[in-house]
Amino acid sequence: MEKIYDVIIVGAGPAGLTAAIYSGRARLSTLIIEKANDGGQIVQTSEIVNYPGGIKNESGVTLTERMAYQAKAFGAEKTYDTVKSVQLSGDIKVLNGERDIYKAKTVIIAAGAFPVGIGCSNEKEFNGKGISYCATCDGAFFEDFEIYVVGGGDSAVEEAIYLTRFARKVTIIHRRDELRAVKSIQEKAFANDKIEYMWNSRVIEVRGEGMLQSMIVEDTKTKETKEIFADEDDGLFGLFVFIGFKPQSEIFEGKMEIEKGYIVTDENMKTSLPGVFAAGDIRKKSLRQVVTATGDGAIAADQAVKYIDELNI
Ligand code: NAP
Repeated sequence: MEKIYDVIIVGAGPAGLTAAIYSGRARLSTLIIEKANDGGQIVQTSEIVNYPGGIKNESGVTLTERMAYQAKAFGAEKTYDTVKSVQLSGDIKVLNGERDIYKAKTVIIAAGAFPVGIGCSNEKEFNGKGISYCATCDGAFFEDFEIYVVGGGDSAVEEAIYLTRFARKVTIIHRRDELRAVKSIQEKAFANDKIEYMWNSRVIEVRGEGMLQSMIVEDTKTKETKEIFADEDDGLFGLFVFIGFKPQSEIFEGKMEIEKGYIVTDENMKTSLPGVFAAGDIRKKSLRQVVTATGDGAIAADQAVKYIDELNI
């Protein structure tokens, strides 16, 4: 007879792995389905300094390796597959993967969200070597350096203000000549002496030897380009990108309440579908960090336990 798990968790990032630790420990039969590598977005972070109780030289990889070990120790199984479609409305939820079909009484969606990249030449090469998509994670590495921020929305402008705590100067590079961010955030930024603006501009290429040292910026109106170099004494600069996030929620669209791609939950991580929970960056929430993802995962698993107790099947 094919196995019906108590819990299937989609995604092996901090939210999914924490959910697996909690559901495994509660003696629920648990399967994690991960499409690529464990850890999700956080594996891109070379040093995690803001996770409580963090140890020296902790990277996203080492932290999530320990989480995965813990989940396994509590009996959670894991398979590598890409979920292509789902039927989540009945008592038994069905997930159709590329390789297999999976069934469970509850599902915890922890598939994450990924920051949208600039799409310029060499961007991937400098990810973590000058280019960052997370000010809270990486801002402190640029203490007294120059930072450029790409974007003009609430995230870009708020993060630019935050980055002035560390940087000598922060320059916002925006593709138009006015910001999209709400006026109150704009006012704060305009009142900040450390923030400068590069209007009608987009980064088309990044360069450097090992670390980010220069970039080619194009004027969006005239199409003229110029190369911007790191200050000679610094030798490098930071380029922070905030031009939106893309939650990995396509396969759940139309099946539950989703706002701008983010799954809507209550404070107990319950989605609009009974027995289906969401945790971590895929969820509509205000702070997307490892610490909030792990909290979400623990709550979702605890609620899955309660749901199964009441389900009685
Ligand atoms: P957003 O509002 O979609 O803004 C994205 C920004 O990036 C826009 O300025 C856009 O330029 C620019 N952009 C998009 N694609 C680009 C590209 N390929 N190259 C260069 N620039 C590009 O995204 P967000 O700022 O991440 O905010 C997402 C949502 O969260 C929004 O609803 C926002 O209100 C909300 N949020 C709220 C707060 C808050 O209330 N405190 C804080 C953060 C986020 P254009 O302006 O030219 O389109």
